[in-house]
Amino acid sequence: MTVNQRSAIPGARRIVVKVGSSSISGENAGQITALVEALAGAHDKGTEVVLVSSGAIATGMPYLRLDARPSDLATQQAAAAVGQNVLIYRYQDSLDRFGIVAGQVLLTAGDLENPSHRSNAQRAMERLLGLRILPIVNENDTVATHEIRFGDNDRLAALVSVLVAADVLILLSDVDALYTRPPQEPGAERIEEVPFGDPLSGVTFGDIGSAGVGTGGAGTKVSAARLAAEAGTSVLVTSTANVAAALRGEQLGTWFQPA
Ligand code: GLU
Repeated sequence: MTVNQRSAIPGARRIVVKVGSSSISGENAGQITALVEALAGAHDKGTEVVLVSSGAIATGMPYLRLDARPSDLATQQAAAAVGQNVLIYRYQDSLDRFGIVAGQVLLTAGDLENPSHRSNAQRAMERLLGLRILPIVNENDTVATHEIRFGDNDRLAALVSVLVAADVLILLSDVDALYTRPPQEPGAERIEEVPFGDPLSGVTFGDIGSAGVGTGGAGTKVSAARLAAEAGTSVLVTSTANVAAALRGEQLGTWFQPA
């Protein structure tokens, strides 16, 4: 089905929600409760929900007694291996309140480009959704380092949306929408809607997350949104704090029209 406006989100058949490290780790770890509650609400109404979540490195840091994000790749991967486990435990613990079971899916962008890996992943995702499991996807950090280097789980989320033919992709961050320039600058205006193919000329994006643990920014959101929109998935860019309202179909964030 085509969900061509925000108000149609509550009736969507299949939704992918992507959340970044800074929204659900460190002092924001408590946001998992509200995020899960919103996802459970959609799931209970019959919507098939896939969560793409970063945050393994940030969640693992305290367990390795690291105060700051490690700079070498091997330690980042070790932190991700430890943190992924804790992160999934936190999600499952929260999902238990609603009787929902999570399935952990670790993928690389390359997996989704390789035909046999892709069809395996697709079959597994379809079965998980058919079983009413809530798949939680992250980059498989021990074999892929794209997100670690480029902060780009937004792209993985778009590729997953295409894989499962999602009606809507919701890209969450700590900013409520895309703006015509970095939001802290004077004259920045919220971009309400992006028609399909709009080059967004004249718009300038900064590219770092505010809490220092995430690495994606508005630029990666726009590229990911375009990738998904090209395949017919509508995209909403908004903040993690807005997820429940977004799933209710409220007029917030930045909406990318699909092809
Ligand atoms: N996939 C990694 C994670 O979930 C990388 C995130 C990052 O680079 O911050 O932690």
